[in-house]
Amino acid sequence: MNISVIGTGYVGLVTGACFAEFGLNVVCMDTDARRIERLEKGDVPFYEPGLTELVSKGLREHHLSFTTDIAKAVDQALVIFIAVGTPSRADGSADLSYVEEVGRGIARHMTGYKVIATKSTVPVGTGEKLRDVIAANQPARCRFDIVSNPEFLREGSAIEDFLRPNRVVIGADSPEAVAIMRDLYRPLYLIETPFVVTDIPSAEMIKYASNAFLATKVSFINEVANLCEKVGADVQVVAKAMGLDRRIGPKFLHAGPGFGGSCFPKDLAALVQIGEQAEQEMDIAKSAARINERQRLLMVEKIRTALGGLKGKTIGLLGLSFKPNTNDLREAPALAIVEKLLAEGCQVRAYDPAALEEATKLLPKMTPCPDAYGAAEGADALVLMTEWNQFRNLDFDQVKKALRRPLFIDLRNVYEPERLAALGFHYVSVGRPARNPKPDA
Ligand code: NAD
Repeated sequence: MNISVIGTGYVGLVTGACFAEFGLNVVCMDTDARRIERLEKGDVPFYEPGLTELVSKGLREHHLSFTTDIAKAVDQALVIFIAVGTPSRADGSADLSYVEEVGRGIARHMTGYKVIATKSTVPVGTGEKLRDVIAANQPARCRFDIVSNPEFLREGSAIEDFLRPNRVVIGADSPEAVAIMRDLYRPLYLIETPFVVTDIPSAEMIKYASNAFLATKVSFINEVANLCEKVGADVQVVAKAMGLDRRIGPKFLHAGPGFGGSCFPKDLAALVQIGEQAEQEMDIAKSAARINERQRLLMVEKIRTALGGLKGKTIGLLGLSFKPNTNDLREAPALAIVEKLLAEGCQVRAYDPAALEEATKLLPKMTPCPDAYGAAEGADALVLMTEWNQFRNLDFDQVKKALRRPLFIDLRNVYEPERLAALGFHYVSVGRPARNPKPDA
């Protein structure tokens, strides 16, 4: 089967490369000519484990090709996936201009039946809107169906998530389109992936409700962590015991500096907007977003308290991306926290395994360092911001030698407080009592 994917960002490129891996012929299209030029050479413009290999394989086996020409993407494809961005507008609502632009482009070049499937996260009602846009822009009437096929992959494990998803959601009102979509995902049937086939509005809502729920879990545990600090409880133990209850589950119960990334903040804001338009207050989504904003500021206060003031202090920072195994800095808590530290008169020395170059462009006053120990060099404190694996086993003798004073602020609760105290560190984390160095350390 021939398919195409419009938009070659995290979602579009992973979708294209994985469908090529399923043996389909995939044309990936993007308006960014520089990106397409790089992709044609197998050069993936962002960091995602395993993606370069998959793209190279697709190119080599001629299952994958790239173009900037929408006509080429429409021509042979039976299914056209839309995977362009849906960023937040100033009022929080999703900006659908890219999706609509793609809709007009597809309409202009259609010569036969197509299934047009949105992978972009779009508000309820977008499927209908897209249907109108396409119908209004066709030079000659051609049959087509709209499908909502939201994507749930996580950056950092995107390929694994695509190839082994928890579920595939297909929202459609045409049995023909459903049959084609099922055929497309046949390899996942073989591994018994659950399929949820529903109407378009429900499929669109599933994505927002899922993201808002996960974001709420994070904000909930962060609020509990803040309370734990005040009442002398340990959030790690609390979260672990909560997670053992199968009705709750252990995922997304990690206290820290709050969530970031291109999806949770934007999708929460969009859900609140969808609610406003439908005159339905989305109080929980609003609170989850507000708590998340506050959490970043609380992390700055935590650093201030541990250091006894910020002005003139040097802070070493480990990790900048919004989570490990990605170089994505969109809405990363690190950006807001570093900006605030710099504004308060700190010097920030930072290292990140993948996002350093991009972060240095965004934060030119921050000092980029070649590794974790370079970031610690001469610093008054070392702050663990993003839990990359390579920060989970630091050589603390080296860290201690590099630091001006042995203060370790672990915003991801990676280390055991007792262990760090025994190694002679003043150890501060989230939702657990701070530990001072053992007297004999
Ligand atoms: P992205 O910003 O990484 O990529 C979007 C791509 O679309 C860019 O390369 C851009 O040049 C291209 N584009 C924009 N307008 C275009 C047009 N008219 N024609 C062709 N290409 C065009 O975005 P992303 O992170 O891949 O997200 C895409 C969508 O998927 C969003 O709606 C997002 O909410 C959703 N989503 C993202 C993730 C994630 O983890 N990133 C997960 C699930 C869903």
